[in-house]
Amino acid sequence: MILDDYLAPYAPLVRVAPHPDRGDRVLVAAKDFSPGEVVFSEPALLDTAHAVAQHFGPVPGLSIAPDYQRLMYEFVVHAVYQPVPTSAAAHALLLAELSTDGMASALAERVNGERNAQYRADVKVFRDKIKKRFAKRGNKGTGSFPTTETLLKLLCIIETNVHSEDIKTGPAATSGDDDDEEAEGEEEHCVLSVVASMPEHSCKPNALVTFFPPFSPAPDSAHTVGVSDIELAKAEPVTHLLFTALQPIAAGDVISIAYQENSFLPTRVRRGNLANRGFVCNCRMCAGPDPDFARAFVCANPMCRALVSPVGTLRDQESYVPPPPPPDAENEDEEMDNDDDENGDDEDPDAQLVCGRCGEVVATMGEVIAAEARLAHDPEAMLAVLSPVLDVFSRNVPATDTFSARTLASVLLGDCLDHPDLTAALTDPDSGVHVSPSHFLVYDALKQLLFFDADAIDRVMHVPALMYLVAVNYVALAPSPRPLALASLHAAPSDESDGEGGDVPATDAEWTRLIAWNGDVQHNLLWLMKQARARGNLELAQWASDRGLDTCAAMGVAASASGAAIEFGDVFARPRSLLAG
Ligand SMILES: [Zn+2]
Ligand SMILES: [Zn+2]
Repeated sequence: MILDDYLAPYAPLVRVAPHPDRGDRVLVAAKDFSPGEVVFSEPALLDTAHAVAQHFGPVPGLSIAPDYQRLMYEFVVHAVYQPVPTSAAAHALLLAELSTDGMASALAERVNGERNAQYRADVKVFRDKIKKRFAKRGNKGTGSFPTTETLLKLLCIIETNVHSEDIKTGPAATSGDDDDEEAEGEEEHCVLSVVASMPEHSCKPNALVTFFPPFSPAPDSAHTVGVSDIELAKAEPVTHLLFTALQPIAAGDVISIAYQENSFLPTRVRRGNLANRGFVCNCRMCAGPDPDFARAFVCANPMCRALVSPVGTLRDQESYVPPPPPPDAENEDEEMDNDDDENGDDEDPDAQLVCGRCGEVVATMGEVIAAEARLAHDPEAMLAVLSPVLDVFSRNVPATDTFSARTLASVLLGDCLDHPDLTAALTDPDSGVHVSPSHFLVYDALKQLLFFDADAIDRVMHVPALMYLVAVNYVALAPSPRPLALASLHAAPSDESDGEGGDVPATDAEWTRLIAWNGDVQHNLLWLMKQARARGNLELAQWASDRGLDTCAAMGVAASASGAAIEFGDVFARPRSLLAG
């Protein structure tokens, strides 16, 4: 069987197996892997960075994304010319395996739904256009031109299985300001392969996928008139998808990756986003046993003060209705009355949130929801709340102090937690529920302040604000299944760290390794570095660059594969040594 042949080289590393409970197909480890170890790497079968794909100018006016048109075009060229027989076989495998396993096809249907008719029409237009293009050049291929049905099927496969990364628009040293705008809505680097399509999603994945090498624009020769598609097609695809272990993986474990960037989103939002992709996530963060870290509350027992988070429940694939998207900031006022509808069907208001450490009831979910609603709908109050956070940070973490993940975490969860101003500001007057400073609403408000308010950037252009953003990500990544391992890091004496405290990293190096995998941490550091540089604060830029390089070193091969280390290293237009003094 063709799939077995294709999988043979991967057999010592990974194998395809039925899921132990669900019965659908998953990818499992064939051996043990340590964090940082490469699980497997697979060459791209279709790749928008491939010369053929880059050579193709997308047909305007179609509902098919330009990236996907490039992948489809590369597929057609292979099908017509069959320049590399193994690739042709692999492409047949794509169509055969990724659409008939009962998973991808059902997914594609749910995702596309009402768009299918439009897609069919657009695929036909697309096919006619490129057929004309082929005819003009004299089609001397040995294969056959794919039918509309085949291309439609491919499009569905692409939609549900493609891996993509933002294309970095060259070294960001020239400007730090519009980086975020450029990253959105522009073309992405998209890659489709077979084994790489099989890992399942988890919000707490055990593997990370990176592109190797990172995207680079096609050489100028690719755009030169006279270079034929067939010549370009002879070039082997260069991109590999590299899967690296994030956590210890044992032989037989299901390999999982995060299909979307979802650090520090509450379960309700993560699940809603994933539902748009056609499935309900029942991973250990969405359906327990890991608590919803991004919705942490403080235990009211003054002798305890542990952080307590709601735990998700299993959801039915068929009956799940995703919650409505959060209202836009501009519509905040009109949406204020809808809180009950928004939350009512997703959470039982009478359910109790119980402290895992002392057993005290922190609140009912109804009170929790009300406390969140108050902060969510009063952005001014929320922003005011942030100043004590930043004050506490600025007193405890000097701008260029030696980086210590543990210091940051304990400041966030210790000093911030009990700061009287902060306690008052984050406590709901009606219920007395105390939202933790690491709650996603606090995080979102600070992010809003930093990213969208240019004046605020200059007002708070100091380390503590960004360090807050970095530090809250440690919380989301806490490896312990107990509510917020970091809270116990602060509260428990270090010599009691055996047994239940065993999951808490002991050294700064371990902390750095742990946080390195969080995309938000690196993103925030990179952003801080660019902003600082653009504003002439070279000392701070250097500081952020060094911290970014620390996380890259901790990530090992995955960081070099993703190009992150180069970004952190290349941010200075002049030699770093000149900045040291
Ligand atoms: Zn999940
Ligand atoms: Zn407690």
